[in-house]
Amino acid sequence: MTESNQSASSKLMRDVVALGKKYSESGFPNPNRAGCPNPAILRAMAHRDRHLTLEALPLSHIVGCSPCFQSYEHFRRISRVLRRVKVTAACLAVLGVLLVTARVVRTHSAEGVQRNTSGKQAAKQQPSVETKQAPRNDPFPVIVDLASFSPTRGDVNDDFRNKVHFPRKLLRVKFLLPIGLESGEYSIRLQNAAGTVIAERRARGHMTDGVTSVEVNFDLTGSHTGNLTLMIRPPGLSWREFPAVIE
Ligand SMILES: [Zn+2]
Repeated sequence: MTESNQSASSKLMRDVVALGKKYSESGFPNPNRAGCPNPAILRAMAHRDRHLTLEALPLSHIVGCSPCFQSYEHFRRISRVLRRVKVTAACLAVLGVLLVTARVVRTHSAEGVQRNTSGKQAAKQQPSVETKQAPRNDPFPVIVDLASFSPTRGDVNDDFRNKVHFPRKLLRVKFLLPIGLESGEYSIRLQNAAGTVIAERRARGHMTDGVTSVEVNFDLTGSHTGNLTLMIRPPGLSWREFPAVIE
């Protein structure tokens, strides 16, 4: 999508919402859901997915279908909450770096003072300072929205299937699962290109506000970078595969 195309689609979406607030919320019941698009598209649209082309946006349908308009509004609210969570996580990460830096600077200047006054004592105390400074092993939080990886019905082109990106760290991954997946016991696997399972977890999926999510820890600190397959088995169903990459 080009820049102008994208800003045009953002403006169109804002216009749709403004118009919808007046008429679409309840004025167009569509009990048989005639002509409704795949909910994954509404969700991708609400998340401002850059892979959606202007032509693929079902704008004229949404303004004339109250159930779709309400779904779109619902996904927009979730998207705003998620954005706030991401911003908060980024701020906390920056704050963490600042605190560690401040502590290192303070420790170094304290060491300098101790060396000047009593060299032996400073040398003795150094190991305990290092122990205090050992990096904390809190997992790095990652949110993966699998909505844009939903199996499509041929109405979205193949570029839509982009990859899930995992940083090479100890991770706490929250997967937001595609529409239609229920609460229950999930198995989650990371498999490399050679077909070897490099990590496997089981965890309970919970539904909140119509979106099922599941959280697991993956320690990818010692993993090789490169392509892999993320495999998810929902309760009672077969494995689903998503292209992924460790970077
Ligand atoms: Zn509809």
